[in-house]
Amino acid sequence: MIEQLVALAKIADIDAEALRTETELRDIPARIEALQGDVKKLSELLSAEKHDLADADRLLSAQDEELQNQNQSLAKSKSKGARAKNMREADAVERELETIRRLMKEREVERETLKEAIAKRRQSLEKHEKEFSELESYVATEKQQADARIAELQVTRERVLQGRAVLAAKVPGDVLRRYDMIRTKRQGLGAAAIKEGSCSGCFVVLTPQLVIGVSRAEDFTQCPRCQRILYSREAITKFEQKDA
Ligand SMILES: [Zn+2]
Repeated sequence: MIEQLVALAKIADIDAEALRTETELRDIPARIEALQGDVKKLSELLSAEKHDLADADRLLSAQDEELQNQNQSLAKSKSKGARAKNMREADAVERELETIRRLMKEREVERETLKEAIAKRRQSLEKHEKEFSELESYVATEKQQADARIAELQVTRERVLQGRAVLAAKVPGDVLRRYDMIRTKRQGLGAAAIKEGSCSGCFVVLTPQLVIGVSRAEDFTQCPRCQRILYSREAITKFEQKDA
């Protein structure tokens, strides 16, 4: 009986260690995926920003073209003015010139405002591009480190799990099934050692009779609260010393 319990306790130790690597193995890819999601989101924002800036640049060149056209109209009106035959014609030309000049002035004010806005946007885009490239290289480094850590953890996990099958063969099938069932319900830990009269799995204080029973290692006792199979480290050490 004690031999079976010793085997189960060793399995529990193996599983607890494997669980640590498994948790890390699950968390690392999730973290990298989140980071890569950030990169994608930022890249989309950046391309929207570039798109807006290109639109503003196009608007500016349209305004430049309009100004050139107005300049041509101005030159035409001026030469018309030079050819004016009387005061009436000269007045008409003068009014035309005034209108063109006013329109040009309005256009120029608009153009300055637009130019300022474009400069601001370009500055913000440059800042965001820099931030983006920093994030990108940070994520690339993180991914590299994560891949290395994953490889390391996989090796560790395999090493940890070595010998589990041999131990599992020593435990009665129904006990092992019960252990596995508790394990899936209780954060991956199906057995717990008694520590200072308490269950080390859920910390409930156990009755002295229960503690004594477990230390005798005569059957598979479960914790009344968390249902984990209980064992005594002292009993296992004693058994192993006697065995050696
Ligand atoms: Zn417990």
